[in-house]
Amino acid sequence: MIFDEYTIKSLIRPVPDFPKPGVTFRDITPLYHSPRAMRMVADSLIQRYVESPVTHIGAIDARGFLLGAVLAYELNKPLVLLRKAGKLPADTLRESYATEYSETTLEMHRDALSGGEQVLLLDDLIATGGTFLAAARVVRQCGANVYEAAAIIDLPDLGGSRSMQDAGIPTFTLCAFA
Ligand code: AMP
Repeated sequence: MIFDEYTIKSLIRPVPDFPKPGVTFRDITPLYHSPRAMRMVADSLIQRYVESPVTHIGAIDARGFLLGAVLAYELNKPLVLLRKAGKLPADTLRESYATEYSETTLEMHRDALSGGEQVLLLDDLIATGGTFLAAARVVRQCGANVYEAAAIIDLPDLGGSRSMQDAGIPTFTLCAFA
């Protein structure tokens, strides 16, 4: 299916002042209501990584899980969960970070990676980049490499994708709102 950026963007709903005043929340639930649009998103990512050296899919809590599961299934790769603090039951590695509107900690099971893996990180959106940067630090704690960080949406005005490039993390997004 041919990727149509206009269709994708039209299905991302801007919600002003959520979850706090001054933030425009980019709501992807209308996109998930459209099987055709979801297929476009999933197919674009599958096409990009099917011939890549990616060995593991690292999905970020919570909206990254939705794409992460689809990609892990289609690419036949192990799925590694990066979760908000307190959700994973066994021994974890952790990193704290700030988002556009919150301060939190990301955890991954210590035995999820052993070193040398090429991890594709997935989330729905890049704002300040704090989430992906923390996820990359967790992955690197294990001696694994971040092959790329992919999201549906970039908010370039918040500088996240630039900070990530500066930190040596290649980024890929399907659309941007400036
Ligand atoms: P950041 O760490 O600042 O790049 O923020 C990215 C993370 O926070 C992603 O997991 C997003 O789901 C969420 N997020 C941050 N800002 C927004 C926004 N304006 N709209 C929707 N989600 C957002």
